[in-house]
Amino acid sequence: MRKKIVAGNWKMNKSLADGLLLVDEIIRGSHNNSVLKIIAPAFIHLAAVAEKLKKEEGFEIAAQNCHQSQNGAFTGEVSAEMIASAGAQYVIIGHSERRIYFGENNGLLAQKVNIALTNNLIPIFCLGESREDRNANVHLEKVKQQLKEGLFNLSPSDFSKVIIAYEPVWAIGTGVTATTHQAQGMHHFIRSEVNRKYGKDISEETLLLYGGSCNADNAKELFACLDVDGGLIGGASLKAAEFNSIVNSFG
Ligand code: PEP
Repeated sequence: MRKKIVAGNWKMNKSLADGLLLVDEIIRGSHNNSVLKIIAPAFIHLAAVAEKLKKEEGFEIAAQNCHQSQNGAFTGEVSAEMIASAGAQYVIIGHSERRIYFGENNGLLAQKVNIALTNNLIPIFCLGESREDRNANVHLEKVKQQLKEGLFNLSPSDFSKVIIAYEPVWAIGTGVTATTHQAQGMHHFIRSEVNRKYGKDISEETLLLYGGSCNADNAKELFACLDVDGGLIGGASLKAAEFNSIVNSFG
């Protein structure tokens, strides 16, 4: 059976004190050990959040990005090795905000996936179409291309470590959520593309998260979809009560 995951992407929010307070509140209200909770704070808070969560059951840590090189003269950047040494197990790669505001393309993201795996980090690889893509009915093609160029160069054993987050760009931070029909439709499509490339066994084990204005009110029906294994949560992960109630949305 596939794991159930709720990952909170804090983005560029929270001071250290506020972040640690949020973690305390999440721990206090967290009673669903059947769900893996992943917390993704800013780089600078990774070690402190990891330290706080290291004895808590069912919690792991993600960074929100990494550089594509192992190390070197890249002022201001953070490597996968540094992230792992700070206590994280995961790294989000290819979030739409990275693609849009920082010009990250599939080729660069494929390099980031590789360096993450080399450093024993599990990539949470984000993909998804824009509003224009969906209106033009090219959303499946767009996601297929992101899969092909971003992930499908991996060996089967490397691919099987990766988590995929489907995040329609038009649903991120907008309050507009994909319908269950749209979310399940795309997740089913992704799983069938993985099946075509890597076969049935790997495709049935691939973890697929939904992201895009997922909250306490809509999580239950999204998580009930056959091919949705959990959520990547932005805004709603910044409040402990909301995050925990999303976690508790799993039946
Ligand atoms: C995200 O940025 O990964 C995300 C899903 O954001 P939100 O939940 O705020 O739409």
